[in-house]
Amino acid sequence: MSESKLIMVLGDQLSLANPALVEADPTRDLVVLAEVAEEAGYVRHNRHKIALVFAAMRQFREQLRQRGFEVRYFTLGDGLPTLEAALVQVLEEVPCGEVRVCEPGEYRLREKMRGWDRALGVPVRVLEDTRFLASHADFDAWAGGRKQLRMEYFYRDMRRRHGVLLEVDGQPAGARWNFDQENRVGWRGQEAIPARRELPQDDCTRAVLAEVAAAFPDNPGDLGQFNYACTAEEARLEFDWFCRHALPHFGSYQDALVEESPWVFHSKISMYLNIGLLEPLPLCQQVEQAWRDGDCSLAAAEGFIRQILGWREYVRGIYWLTMPEYKARNTFAARAPLPEFFWTADTDLRCLQRALRQTLDLGYAHHIQRLMVIGNFALLAGLDVQEVCDWYLAVYVDAFEWVELPNTLGMALHADNGLMASKPYAASGKYIQRQGDHCKGCKYSPAKTTGEGACPFNALYWRFIDRHLDYLAANPRMGLITANWRKRAPGDRRAITDWGDRCLQQLLASSG
Ligand SMILES: Cc1cc2nc3c(=O)[nH]c(=O)nc-3n(C[C@H](O)[C@H](O)[C@H](O)COP(=O)(O)OP(=O)(O)OC[C@H]3O[C@@H](n4cnc5c(N)ncnc54)[C@H](O)[C@@H]3O)c2cc1C
Ligand code: SF4
Repeated sequence: MSESKLIMVLGDQLSLANPALVEADPTRDLVVLAEVAEEAGYVRHNRHKIALVFAAMRQFREQLRQRGFEVRYFTLGDGLPTLEAALVQVLEEVPCGEVRVCEPGEYRLREKMRGWDRALGVPVRVLEDTRFLASHADFDAWAGGRKQLRMEYFYRDMRRRHGVLLEVDGQPAGARWNFDQENRVGWRGQEAIPARRELPQDDCTRAVLAEVAAAFPDNPGDLGQFNYACTAEEARLEFDWFCRHALPHFGSYQDALVEESPWVFHSKISMYLNIGLLEPLPLCQQVEQAWRDGDCSLAAAEGFIRQILGWREYVRGIYWLTMPEYKARNTFAARAPLPEFFWTADTDLRCLQRALRQTLDLGYAHHIQRLMVIGNFALLAGLDVQEVCDWYLAVYVDAFEWVELPNTLGMALHADNGLMASKPYAASGKYIQRQGDHCKGCKYSPAKTTGEGACPFNALYWRFIDRHLDYLAANPRMGLITANWRKRAPGDRRAITDWGDRCLQQLLASSG
């Protein structure tokens, strides 16, 4: 049997730091990349996501060839059903002594890989993904024995371990670990929002866009607006642009909801990080340097670094620590069917309509739209947890289950009984009004709770509190709200919850 190895590179592992490639020998080993029906179709992926992954895979193939690798590449048109089928086909043509692959980011695929040894008839080595800053062992050691897991403490450890934003004595820069309090300014048109770069489209990207449009006619995604970087080089230019033009305002307006811009001052890089075009630590170091050079405030730099070094690594740790049991959690027994307007954006709640429209068209919504508009609605309406998670996994260009699931099931829906978040992110229309400018153009009023023209988020919020009163009252962070609700006259409470029922019935019925 030949000693050469067959290296499989998955579509979200497009990095030369991929551990399966790090020790590969271009003179001996063969690399395989495959666009296959199962991966492209296990949810109704946004066409932007499929196009980005395929175009970046084809660009990466060229990069590998330039480095001397022989690459076997299957396009979707080759008709292979699964990754395993691609490996079978290559092994029939070129016998290899071993298959190597970096572990996938989804439990679903990792389980499938367990059967590959037998199916392929050669040993399959699945290597740990070293592109993250906390290994599985690191996270397990940090989590082990703790009564309660909280991102903030994990994040401080990560800052110390990677030497990010520290004074020489090891204390946090600016004498505080967290500047979150300064990152909550509502949007009142205070700043000019810079237009994003128009990214060049070469023949490769144009061909992929045409193929994806033809193969996935019913998936969401307006490919006429495709504007994602498909190479590591372009992704780095995007990040440089962010550091120069958006980072200075990133901190202040991180939680802002803005009519005029889908991106506001956000970085628009999650998709590049998640598929391997960018690496997390250099981004944190570049942002720290921007602060040290006086190009942005400490609050902006810390706010950004916390997302990458803290949240991103933390959600991954939670995912692998708790799967597969995590996926079945449903604290509030939420089972209402997902309304059709999640696929059409056809709703008259302005904030929701805006967030859904850009999600479906671009595959992007920023964090507060995902959490406090769409996720908040799903939580208050009691939408089925699994259906909501599947929807999030489908519609976003950056969605891979390791990061999507804890954010949706845990952070947005609180279906994990508070593992991810110390209290439910439930909010009324008043929060949405405070954070942005959608309410001005809405037919509803955030000042009204019941009656015609009342913002549905208001009654739905109190209906949620009422339905889960005992559970929420046991949470010290919800004590004041639940106590106030309990003090209200029973007739008032009834009027609000009845109105909430009515709003919900109408919203669900109007969406067919
Ligand atoms: C319900 C819900 C679902 C989400 N699903 C995904 C998903 O499928 N894929 C995904 O990458 N992110 C997801 N997020 C996290 C976050 O919303 C996106 O990472 C972010 O909006 C991407 O846009 P950006 O690159 O402009 O981010 P910025 O706001 O500029 O933040 C910078 C980077 O920090 C990281 N980051 C920020 N918040 C988080 C977080 N909570 N978890 C993990 N990383 C974070 C991302 O890599 C992001 O690119 C979800 C959040 C919620 C509330
Ligand atoms: S009034 Fe309510 S539904 Fe309308 S934009 Fe404001 S929060 Fe959203």
